[in-house]
Amino acid sequence: MQENFPKNTFQKTIEVLSPELGLQESEALAYLTLEKIYNLSKTDLIVNRPYVSNGHQTNKYNQLIKRLLSHEPIQYILNEAEFYGFQFYVNGHVLIPRQETELLIQIIENFRPWRRPKMADIGTGSGCIACTLALTIEGAELNGYDVSPEALKVAQQNAKRLGARAAFEVLDILNQDIPLQNLDLVVSNPPYVMEEEKQQMNKNVLDFEPSLALFVSNHDPLIFYNTIAQKAKSALKKGGALFFEINEQFGKETLFLLERMGYGDPKLYQDLNGKDRFASGILI
Ligand code: GLN
Repeated sequence: MQENFPKNTFQKTIEVLSPELGLQESEALAYLTLEKIYNLSKTDLIVNRPYVSNGHQTNKYNQLIKRLLSHEPIQYILNEAEFYGFQFYVNGHVLIPRQETELLIQIIENFRPWRRPKMADIGTGSGCIACTLALTIEGAELNGYDVSPEALKVAQQNAKRLGARAAFEVLDILNQDIPLQNLDLVVSNPPYVMEEEKQQMNKNVLDFEPSLALFVSNHDPLIFYNTIAQKAKSALKKGGALFFEINEQFGKETLFLLERMGYGDPKLYQDLNGKDRFASGILI
């Protein structure tokens, strides 16, 4: 048992992390470290309220710092990520939910007055889209699919702990059909980062997040969009909506694709950085 001061811990954490991770990132991580390991708030830090740490916490602290220095995302270390105000369990089998995807939830919520809709999420990963829609749209029933059984375990766990009406099943969308009909919505955030974009990606993504969830071949970057738009035609009801998260480079191509496949009212939506990030169409 040893008395410590939040400011000392905070500063020490930044000193250790910043040469590798930069000042801004290290500061954010230092706040999280205080909160998650020592249960200290920003107020505790401001008033520098002394605390007593035990050996268990010291071990956890040392482990955390070591893993952060290797660029492992803190969400994997703590096994949690926040999405749309909900806490999701995550591990290295699923992509960490992205902030821009929260906007997709909002766009879908406001798209039309939904009435107890039946919805499917293709490539569900952690289940963040499926669970969040199930929790925020009244009476919504979600089916989430993924090619990875390990990801589905994570999604199932999330539905259970959040109490979301969402069920999950293995599906290889490139080789199997969507086993549902009469849906009000099909949504997907498939892999869309081209192999050639790898060089620009950060170590924390490249070394730790599942490639299966991220990358698509340079030769056929729209393979998931073509396949899902095609297969969604027999899964959606007339007037049902298809929503995609997209690579910002392929806004126009995705619109053409939706039109070509006979979807009505194809639309693009921008993310908070003004980049084409989502697309939608209506089955006519
Ligand atoms: N937006 C993610 C990223 O930049 C990619 C998500 C995806 O491929 N579906 O890492």
